[in-house]
Amino acid sequence: MPSFSLCVYCGSRLGTTPGFTAVAADVGRWIGEHGGQLVYGGGNAGLMGVVATATLAAGGRVVGVIPHALVEKELAKLDCTELHVVDNMHERKRMMAERADAFLALPGGIGTFEELFEVWTWRQLGYHDKPIGLLNVDGYYDPLLAFLASSVRHSFMSDWQMDLIRVGDDAPALLNRLIEAAAVASPRTSLSQI
Ligand code: AMP
Repeated sequence: MPSFSLCVYCGSRLGTTPGFTAVAADVGRWIGEHGGQLVYGGGNAGLMGVVATATLAAGGRVVGVIPHALVEKELAKLDCTELHVVDNMHERKRMMAERADAFLALPGGIGTFEELFEVWTWRQLGYHDKPIGLLNVDGYYDPLLAFLASSVRHSFMSDWQMDLIRVGDDAPALLNRLIEAAAVASPRTSLSQI
């Protein structure tokens, strides 16, 4: 039984900065060394593959959830502890959310943005009470955070909605905050209704 289960959203590419790969490896190693479980998109590419490989190497469990279509493109990481092949993206994202105690987004592209915003939206609507983190490696998310602040200034968002995500640039510190918050989060969840 893992001590916690963390869903990580991140790029299917490595990005330009070696720091992204290093932090992805740090996050995977931290999960494994703390007896945790990684839940993720089940791919082998980019930062996704780096996190999963590092988690396994450090003795952690890895739960991959991938749709048929991506397995057929031979993009699945076949040595996951559990690899769930599901029918479509909706089923995949629901299973990832259900299997997680907390969520963490690392640098990535539109897939990562979509996953972060979706789980954030579900949280504001009360479908779950699980903590959400955004790891701002090398200032990658500074422009997004500036835009979100602008959205608050324009009254399309509220401070309480911003407060639903924990932003940090230090991986171990943010991971600790997420796991501590997950331990006291309400078990109330209605993800089956999404
Ligand atoms: P992106 O940030 O656009 O690279 O997309 C990465 C996110 O979308 C990951 O967190 C995955 O859940 C999903 N994803 C995108 N591409 C793949 C892939 N080749 N294999 C598995 N999942 C993927």
